[in-house]
Amino acid sequence: MKYWGEYKIRLAKTILGEQVAIQNLSYYRNQLFYYIVLYTLAFSPIAIVPGIFASYLTGFINLAILNIATFLILIILALVKPINIETRKIILISILFIIAWTLFFELNLEGPGLMYLFTVTIVTCLIHSGKSAYLLILFNSIILCFIGLNIEFQWLSLAITENQSITTWFGIVVNLIFLSIIIVACFEIIFKKLEKIIVQQRILNETVNQDNQKILNTQKVLKEKNEELNQFAHTIAHDLKEPLRSMQAFSHLTISKYKDSIPEKGQEFLHHIQTSSERMALLLDSLLEYSQLGKGKQKSVFSVKELVKELEKDLSQLIQENEAIIRYNGLPKIIGYELEFKQLLQNLIANAIKFRKDNEEIEVKIKANEKDKHWEFLVTDNGIGIDSKHREKIFTIFHRLHKNKFPGTGLGLANCKKIVEIHGGDIWVDSIPEKGSTFYFTISKNLEAAPINE
Ligand code: ADP
Repeated sequence: MKYWGEYKIRLAKTILGEQVAIQNLSYYRNQLFYYIVLYTLAFSPIAIVPGIFASYLTGFINLAILNIATFLILIILALVKPINIETRKIILISILFIIAWTLFFELNLEGPGLMYLFTVTIVTCLIHSGKSAYLLILFNSIILCFIGLNIEFQWLSLAITENQSITTWFGIVVNLIFLSIIIVACFEIIFKKLEKIIVQQRILNETVNQDNQKILNTQKVLKEKNEELNQFAHTIAHDLKEPLRSMQAFSHLTISKYKDSIPEKGQEFLHHIQTSSERMALLLDSLLEYSQLGKGKQKSVFSVKELVKELEKDLSQLIQENEAIIRYNGLPKIIGYELEFKQLLQNLIANAIKFRKDNEEIEVKIKANEKDKHWEFLVTDNGIGIDSKHREKIFTIFHRLHKNKFPGTGLGLANCKKIVEIHGGDIWVDSIPEKGSTFYFTISKNLEAAPINE
């Protein structure tokens, strides 16, 4: 097997050279030629060696010489380097052609001779071109007609036609020529169609490649824009904090210094200013956190089960206050960004507890399914649920549904989406209002597949 492999490579290098791209029909013609030489050279000794012996024993020395010459030419054809492929093809066609006519004149075998001529025509059409096959048919026809006429006029004494009648001869020859023309013509039609398909496929491949390049460029631009937006959000959140701190400090100062001289309504307004600025500070902090998400992330292998156990401890106050039950089973070890992944689960569990139904025990289930290329996680609750029209919007920044009933910043799920995306995954929700929600998210097993939001 090892030798066969080496032989194949050697032959491919000699015959085909550095031919790599599929350009047109000639690529397949060259391949076919290569395989013909590959198998003929390897297995021809099975026919040639007995042929040489038989020819020698029966006194057909010329035939024995032809056999040896054929084998040597085959070796040169397959293994000698500085010959171009078209010349190699012509050499092979010539050998076959000579063998056919030798069968005719040396062995006086008219049937096998004609069959061989037919085969040479077909091989020529397959590995070279229809035009050369037609030329060969023309050449054969001229010689065969000459032999036919020779039966009548006896210009030369030919053993092969000794007992032949001119009618039988032309009957056979016309059949052979007719068959050759029909088959070559059919091959030509099929080859033309094939050529068309190959060209179309090449154009299609080029278009796909161009489109892929465009997508890659767009991804690059998106990544840059995303980075710009992140930077923008970071700067805004950071810079706004300073005047906000002044507002908070001065409103606080005003209340503490002039409390007695400010009427009750004025105090109430100042109090509103204070709570609003506290909320704004919270929002700015969340925005800062969002813009920094994933920066300096570190890939590691970690157990999701252990992470959930840690989260149970971190969220113990919230869990106990709400008497929530967290159930999980068969959570895997994965490769990911542990800190970010923990925040993702924390947001989903905290939301599952926060958006609870009154008077119903909270149950949160966490599950994982292994898929071919990713992990799929499910966080299910029996809370208030989400109307279908909001299922996509809730993942956008600052989008909140129950502003007055539940506290929050509207950044939790946006954070989740960003974290899932840096893990090359996706997040979505399935929910029945008043029955509960299941948040699904996926984590790619191959984190090298560059996510846009990195
Ligand atoms: P926040 O929790 O700060 O309001 P999020 O981004 O975490 O912001 O969630 C956005 C909105 O999605 C929430 O305001 C809420 O209306 C809805 N939501 C999130 N999780 C759940 C849940 N488990 N059940 C019902 N609604 C939810």
